[in-house]
Amino acid sequence: MDYMIRGNLKNRPIRFFVISAKDTIEKMRQIHEAMPNASACAGRSLMATALIGYTMKNDDDIVTTILNCDGEIGKVTCTANNKGQVKCDIINPKTNIYLNELGKLDVKKVVGNGTLRVIKDIGLREPYVGETDIVSGEIAQDYTYYFAMSEQTPSVVSLGVLVDKDKFDIMYAGGLIIQLLPGNTEEDIEYLEEKVSHLKYMTTLLSEGKTPEDIIKEIFNDEEIEITDKQDVVYFCNCSREKIEKVVIALGKKELEDIIATDHKITLKCHFCGKEYTLSEEELNNLLKEA
Ligand code: ZN
Repeated sequence: MDYMIRGNLKNRPIRFFVISAKDTIEKMRQIHEAMPNASACAGRSLMATALIGYTMKNDDDIVTTILNCDGEIGKVTCTANNKGQVKCDIINPKTNIYLNELGKLDVKKVVGNGTLRVIKDIGLREPYVGETDIVSGEIAQDYTYYFAMSEQTPSVVSLGVLVDKDKFDIMYAGGLIIQLLPGNTEEDIEYLEEKVSHLKYMTTLLSEGKTPEDIIKEIFNDEEIEITDKQDVVYFCNCSREKIEKVVIALGKKELEDIIATDHKITLKCHFCGKEYTLSEEELNNLLKEA
């Protein structure tokens, strides 16, 4: 079962979020029939999004992250709430396979240049929007840069997705975000830097059978860690016939009349979960009245 933990250090202004999400990322891969580089890219971003979602306070809060890039993958949109419900849309999941000099999936090759936008809808009149350039394309570094530049929060981000070489299914997926909170001193910064300097690759830790609790204990001393919450993580899409109807209405009167006249029905597929909704001529005529 996929889950996240969150907590802080008892005697330092440092907080952490750790996720293990193999089943969730595998579900994402299956829905999008994603190729390995796309699975790694979107999987990493989806886990980062889940962890950001976990930082939010209210049940209705939603975070959306958008990697908008000029590489093959095109665009990756992820959303999460604070209950571990996540979903993802990938413009082009059928990327070619590229390996880097270490023989690992070359994620930046399918990302290229672009921006990372983070939209937090936390119940205010306007959502909070932050955007930074994609500086690495390996995703974790891009989120680190985002936190530093847009939220002024020094952070350590590590994200890993291991894809089976032959079957392309997900073997391991996990990640963490560690953040320095306001009031941190130079000594806290040095302490954190020293602690994470020994941090292994996320996929290495997971392949050793480490849980999120084990991973945070790999970094910090047992007695300074305070785990305050644990949360299941699941790929979940909240699309519905009502929401699809709103999309159809938004097409406008003219477009709707054209569809009714030529196709007599319309089938729309949810980009996040692949579910198909077909609206009959009768249903379309009813929606036309609202358009
Ligand atoms: Zn859906």
